[in-house]
Amino acid sequence: MEFEAVIGMEVHVEINSRSKVFCACATDFHAPPNTNVCPICLGMPGTLPVLNVDMVDKSVAVGLALNCAISRWSKMDRKNYFYPDLAKNYQISQYDLPLCHGGWLDIEVDGAPRRIGITRAHMEEDTARNTHTLAGGQSGVDFNRCGLPLLEIVTEPDIRSAKEAHAYLTALKQILQYLGVSDCNMEEGSLRAEANISIRPTGQEAFGTKTEVKNVASFSGVFKAIDYEISRQAQVLRSGGKVIQETRGWDADRGVTFSQRLKESAHDYRYFPEPDLVPIVVDEAWEQRIRESLPELPIARKARVESQYGLSAYDAGVITMTRALADYYEAVAAAGADPKKAANWLTVELQALLTDSKQEITECRVAPAALAELVALIESGDISGKMAKDILGDMFITGKTARAIVAEKGLVQISDSGELAEIIRRVLAENPAQVEQYRAGKEKVLGFLVGQVMRATQGKANPQILNDLLRDELAP
Ligand SMILES: [Zn+2]
Repeated sequence: MEFEAVIGMEVHVEINSRSKVFCACATDFHAPPNTNVCPICLGMPGTLPVLNVDMVDKSVAVGLALNCAISRWSKMDRKNYFYPDLAKNYQISQYDLPLCHGGWLDIEVDGAPRRIGITRAHMEEDTARNTHTLAGGQSGVDFNRCGLPLLEIVTEPDIRSAKEAHAYLTALKQILQYLGVSDCNMEEGSLRAEANISIRPTGQEAFGTKTEVKNVASFSGVFKAIDYEISRQAQVLRSGGKVIQETRGWDADRGVTFSQRLKESAHDYRYFPEPDLVPIVVDEAWEQRIRESLPELPIARKARVESQYGLSAYDAGVITMTRALADYYEAVAAAGADPKKAANWLTVELQALLTDSKQEITECRVAPAALAELVALIESGDISGKMAKDILGDMFITGKTARAIVAEKGLVQISDSGELAEIIRRVLAENPAQVEQYRAGKEKVLGFLVGQVMRATQGKANPQILNDLLRDELAP
């Protein structure tokens, strides 16, 4: 029997506000445990939460970027459960009236477009962090994370494969980074993805029983966990068994999912409206203000960059992968560089240097204008492409301009015909046997003579001019 997978994603995004969602505590991820805490986020009795308006602004921005409707009126609710990472015994979240709802995100899988429905995006507070691996078998709770602003983005069950899930997460992360609302660092937990996965016989309408895979620390982990879960469920059904609704973890070392706990349903949480917070009223003017502040989003920017600079779809895609890279590229082009050559130097040579040194483009010491100058020096014939690679390597380390390095190392390419011709005549005089062989029809000797001239000029001869001059000199 053939099966079809039905997958919905829930993504938790840590919103990069400077203070927590209901108190003024700092949100610094690297602070020592339990230093960013106060009576409010520790859940002391008698304290009152106050909603961080920056969180609402950024959440509305995400909602609009995901084509959602923004609720004119929404509220916060208490989600009640008992767990050591939740000092109040409830989490403030949104239940039946989320801030954003009914949107979509367009993705591309193997060149084909797919539209993934967004059910909702709602605001909530993060929980504390439990650590169970302390010395002496002890556990610890760090309340720094408790109360951090968290946006939960939930899709419709529109995803059909691990590949689509991966494409969805990549596109979502790209949008969040373009908006600048989160650093989306999965290792540090600022972006956490959960997948609800079920399978059904192909052609069947009704959904199968779903499992939820949690705590996956990378996109590739999500991809593998979904793939594993689809084949596990198929195996269960084929052998006549039943899939149980449960939460499963992902064991990256063994490459398997494992049962964690049976899934709670909403009524287990005894949701009720948070009585300490007023409703959230986002009127049209507020929504409009956020809409006008949105940056050009990835799909639009890719299309514009492609047509404006005459790039291939592939290059435009690489360049607009992040907003920082796209900004850098456009600055190089604005500094007067040939757009296609600039794209090439950025996506191939500079990208390789960044990857090797694990640097981001924002940390790069090569200023956009400096890269434009390097491209111009190649265009004018002052330096060869090969020299340029070495020069770029120096620029990357020292932060100096191309011209400065060229001057310092005397790297200017010899394009002066008179100067080159003189060197060529000297080299030919020193190698009479080879000259004779060439004139007798042994064309291959030319390569040797080119090499000799290159050696005499320390590689600085303009190869094109050298070739022309050498043939002229060798002509009988
Ligand atoms: Zn606090």
